[in-house]
Order: sequence, then structure tokens, then C-alpha cells
Amino acid sequence: MADCPMLKGCPFFHNKMKNMPATSEIYKRNYCQGDNTNCARYMVRQNLGPEYVPVDLFPNQRERAEALLKNKG
Ligand code: SF4
Repeated sequence: MADCPMLKGCPFFHNKMKNMPATSEIYKRNYCQGDNTNCARYMVRQNLGPEYVPVDLFPNQRERAEALLKNKG
């Protein structure tokens, strides 16, 4: 699997978010270096733009991302 195109500047990947989950290394493998199209941060960024990605949105929070897309879309 290819790396996510957002990986270089992503605060999640670089452990820059508050309250990083204990499972963050697994998420990095599954999303950032796996299938980034399932990542909540990536979904919001691609569909709405980087300014719409909440600072505390984690990759596994897909439902939250979908709610954001519904409300803004
Ligand atoms: S998959 Fe999501 S969390 Fe990982 S680098 Fe890409 S945008 Fe960031």
C-alpha cells in the first residue's frame, strides 16, 4: 500500500494531536500507510478542504467525518 499523500504535513501522523490514542500506531499502519481513503481526516480534507478538518479528528472517526460532510455538503 502507498503512503497517504497528506502524510508529510499530517498532525496525526507526526503525533502532534492532543490525546493521541493508544492505538495510533495501528491507525498509522491501517490508514496512513494503508488505505487512506478510509481516513476521517482525509475524507474531510478531500471533500471540504483542509480548513474544515477539526484539529481533534482522528482517522477512525469516520462517522464524525460523514456528519461533517452531510452538514456542509
Ligand atoms: S491517512 Fe489520515 S491521518 Fe494518516 S496521514 Fe493521511 S490524512 Fe493524516
